[in-house]
Amino acid sequence: MTTDIAIIGAGPGGLLTALRLHQKGLRPTIYETVPELKPLGVGVDIKTVGTREIDELGMLEEFREISVDAEDSIFYNHFGQEIYAEKCGVHMGYLHEQRFVHRGILQMLFYRKVLERLGEDAVVFGARVVKYAQDADGVTLDLEHRDGRTEQVRHEAVIAADGIKSAVRRQMHPDLAAPEFSGITMWRGTTLREPIRGGHSIFHLGDPRISTMIVYPIAENFENSGLDLINWVVETNGEETIEDWNQVADPEEIIPAFDTLKLPFLDVQELIREAREVYLFPLVRHFPVDTWVDGRVVLLGDAAHAMYPRGGNGITQAMLDARVLSEKLVELEDPVKAFHAYDAERRPIVTRIVDAMRGEGYEVIRRMVAERTDGRPFEDIEEVLPLAEADEIFSGYHRLVGAPRPGFGAGEATGFRTWDQQPSEIPV
Ligand SMILES: Cc1cc2nc3c(=O)[nH]c(=O)nc-3n(C[C@H](O)[C@H](O)[C@H](O)COP(=O)(O)OP(=O)(O)OC[C@H]3O[C@@H](n4cnc5c(N)ncnc54)[C@H](O)[C@@H]3O)c2cc1C
Repeated sequence: MTTDIAIIGAGPGGLLTALRLHQKGLRPTIYETVPELKPLGVGVDIKTVGTREIDELGMLEEFREISVDAEDSIFYNHFGQEIYAEKCGVHMGYLHEQRFVHRGILQMLFYRKVLERLGEDAVVFGARVVKYAQDADGVTLDLEHRDGRTEQVRHEAVIAADGIKSAVRRQMHPDLAAPEFSGITMWRGTTLREPIRGGHSIFHLGDPRISTMIVYPIAENFENSGLDLINWVVETNGEETIEDWNQVADPEEIIPAFDTLKLPFLDVQELIREAREVYLFPLVRHFPVDTWVDGRVVLLGDAAHAMYPRGGNGITQAMLDARVLSEKLVELEDPVKAFHAYDAERRPIVTRIVDAMRGEGYEVIRRMVAERTDGRPFEDIEEVLPLAEADEIFSGYHRLVGAPRPGFGAGEATGFRTWDQQPSEIPV
């Protein structure tokens, strides 16, 4: 069996892969370009299958301590009228919890576990992989260190988890079309405040033709403040900016878009105004590649399937990649065969998810209600959006992401009536 594996990137995908491989008796080396890890990012929504991965890696209790149990997901129109709600995780009947967490805090948990289990030297920091070359026996990586030093290292096989701008993907697919800006900009922020409505819900707010927001808690009693750390996301039509997770923004620009959104339980303008941090992130289309494998080199996580950060799938899909890849490596022994088997199993599923995330997904129900009511309050939601119709949309989504809704059938993820529709404009 291949024993000498390199992982490029100590993001959640690379770290989780290292932990999975360690569980199978391997001890990979991770190369990470930054000199040290910091808890960067804002909220991520860990789906039930992601919690299962964390549980199987023996981190569930620690994960619970840093995250918030998702109990329900509730949709409101612009007047604060509830249009749909579904339970989440165990509250819906899944075996595992769905939990909300700060991306960087979760990454630090994975990092601590890597150090504990693989050893203090498992991650080589300040080492940027610039190129790979391979022959029949192994792969040579060209590294650039922070101090300007260059070095070549050799491994039997390489897993590239180097994120949305993956250098390995670029080398593997030199003819791949350049990514395209979608025209949509995402504003991602966090605010400290009292728990909203019990502190375990994700709220999908507003009329997409005017302005919308998604809000959920990602930490309770954050840093002993007695307050919840609330994550919020706003999408607007925007100018093209650099695709950088750490692009700091001034939220004043989006506050007027919420002049008319009225909710009995939340002042969204105040939530935005009191933010601790706000980041801009342009939604960029990365085109799916036709293989994640080049001999002894394979792509994983965002490097393989950069997707819009909607619906909490980026991190969860990276965890599922790690699971399947480590299983194949042990089962098939030959890394080239293992990589192809992983590619065959994971790529078609994830490519469907990447495509789907470009549409409105289940968020479309707010548009349907707004259009069917001509933007006015309704009397009876059943006459506007029958429950059966909404259920069908949501069940299709859960099937698509590999977690069919308990009690709603486990059929194929097809037949989405609305999933692929992308609004041409999101007015601000
Ligand atoms: C700073 C940051 C903040 C983020 N914030 C959010 C967020 O708030 N919400 C959200 O949904 N998603 C966020 N993401 C993306 C999210 O982490 C991923 O979608 C998901 O977790 C899959 O992770 P990944 O490990 O594949 O990629 P990433 O998390 O992007 O990790 C890739 C890692 O590879 C390293 N790397 C890149 N190039 C090289 C190279 N050539 N050589 C060596 N190392 C390299 C990077 O420094 C990084 O640590 C963020 C990513 C980053 C990097």
